[in-house]
Formats: sequence, C-alpha cells, structure tokens
Amino acid sequence: MAEETVFSKIVRREIPTDIIYQDDLVTAFRDISPQAPTHILIIPNVLIPTVNDVTTEHELALGRLFTVAAKIAKEEGIAEDGYRLIVNCNRNSGQVVFHIHMHLVGGRPLGPLLAK
Ligand code: 5GP
Repeated sequence: MAEETVFSKIVRREIPTDIIYQDDLVTAFRDISPQAPTHILIIPNVLIPTVNDVTTEHELALGRLFTVAAKIAKEEGIAEDGYRLIVNCNRNSGQVVFHIHMHLVGGRPLGPLLAK
C-alpha cells in the first residue's frame, strides 16, 4: 500500500485549503507556493503515487483531470492566452509529493518548456 500524502488530507478536507473544484473523481486547489499568477493543482481523489503506477482502472479519473483543467482555465480567464499542464514523475522531474497531480499554470508567458 502506498503511503498517503498531504494531498489525501486535502481531498478529505481535513486541512484548510483553497479548494476550487471537487467531484467524485478529482479535486482542484491552489498551489501553496504559486509559480505563476494562476497555479492550480488537479489531483485524482484516489492515491496514485506516480505516473509509473497508473493502470487502465485510473483512466476515468485521469481523463477527468483534463476536462477539469479546461473548465478551470476558462474560469480563470487564461484559456485564450494559453497555459501549461505539467505532471512530474520521480526524482529527475523534481516530483516532491507522491500523489499524482497536474499543475495548471498560466497568467503570464511561461518561457521555454525546460530549464537548462
Ligand atoms: P511536484 O514538484 O511534486 O510536482 O509539486 C508539488 C506541488 O505541491 C508544489 O508546487 C508545492 O508547492 C505544492 N504543495 C505541497 N504541499 C502543499 C500543500 O500542503 N498545499 C498546497 N495547496 N500545495 C502544496
């Protein structure tokens, strides 16, 4: 069994967090340390530590990450100008929270995809 992270507590609303969307499959909330004017994390409610742990059973929840990202981008007013969706996996990506999450970042030009 994978170990829970703070994100499971956020899903269960056990710690105060700026949750902006939640349904039976996913939860979206503002990142505690925003890297852009809009920086929102969208996560499956179920604990999946990394992309390496994804199975076909997760397809519905993981597909929902994209539909919710599109809805939130519209609501945040950044859809037309554009934004970036990022999912880190393990050490080389810099993943620090081992509960899969999609970063939705935007609100300014984001520069090149990868830092040198
Ligand atoms: P990673 O590097 O794992 O892809 O990104 C983890 C993200 O989670 C970071 O951007 C970090 O600021 C955010 N984060 C970590 N702990 C918390 C928390 O307790 N609440 C919120 N809202 N964001 C968090």
